[in-house]
Amino acid sequence: MERRINGHTRLYALIGSPVGHSGSPAMYNYSFEKLGIDAAYLAFDIPLEKTKDAIEAFRTLNVGGFNITMPNKTATARLVDRLSPAAELVGACNTVVVEEDGTMTGHITDGIGFIRNLKEHGVDIKGKKLVLLGTGGAATAIAVQAALDGAAEIAIFNRKDEFYANGERTVEKIKKTVPSMKKIYIEDIDDERKLGDAIAGSDLLINATRAGMSPLENVLPVPVEFLHKELAVADVVYNPRETLLIKKAKELGCKAAVGGIGMLLWQGAAAFELFTGKEMPAQEVMELFFS
Ligand code: NAD
Repeated sequence: MERRINGHTRLYALIGSPVGHSGSPAMYNYSFEKLGIDAAYLAFDIPLEKTKDAIEAFRTLNVGGFNITMPNKTATARLVDRLSPAAELVGACNTVVVEEDGTMTGHITDGIGFIRNLKEHGVDIKGKKLVLLGTGGAATAIAVQAALDGAAEIAIFNRKDEFYANGERTVEKIKKTVPSMKKIYIEDIDDERKLGDAIAGSDLLINATRAGMSPLENVLPVPVEFLHKELAVADVVYNPRETLLIKKAKELGCKAAVGGIGMLLWQGAAAFELFTGKEMPAQEVMELFFS
């Protein structure tokens, strides 16, 4: 590293709070070095109320770009100059590219990463019927990207908790701005008849809730009898690496059973490509930092 840093080295960064646990600096610095890119990546702990200050500082320092994690994703979307269509619809961004003239464009790569991970596992969402569980940050990014990428139908299910209204807003926004989306709706996940019918008629079930994530590792997001062999199953949860849902999907011989760690890798790879125009050495990064 000390031999790489010089007077021209471009800075890339992560902001959020906390960021100390983040694997991003290791992932990006390894990739910069591997590809011979004169850049370095650091993480900065920035509380929500300091988001604007951090962004102004980045403008002054002419950083190449930065990633954003919780709790600063929505605030950043309001502060940058432009947003990608997906970031505009989601109302949040996790990646900002800074042009030479200081113009900042916000992107959201969570949905891109999720869909790329599906592709890596042989699952294509184009023209497919999806059941999406969840209406929080990850679920919103996935709903928007799936709609933009040509899914035929999206049935969203969530508990009637504080996240439900966000799901209703997402449905309305997608209906209004993505005319190719044939059918999208939201229902209460506790309506088991509607949930069962939707899963029975769908190609892909996605869990984008906290169910299955430690300490909820013994919680299945849907009754196991709703899974069927024609169904591909995907989880965004990556802690534990193999969730109970993915384990059951494998045991039952579902068409595919895709865990969440690949989404984490590919959302980073998509950001790396936006920053550098180059492909991240994803296979090596996965082996070194994600296994
Ligand atoms: P969030 O707080 O924005 O949303 C939480 C969602 O979970 C809501 O839909 C909420 O209603 C639901 N929920 C909460 N408790 C629940 C319970 N006990 N049973 C059922 N549903 C429950 O969170 P988020 O940022 O969207 O993250 C959700 C999950 O996705 C987390 O496990 C997170 O680690 C994971 N995630 C993974 C990636 C990745 O790259 N693989 C990226 C982002 C988030």
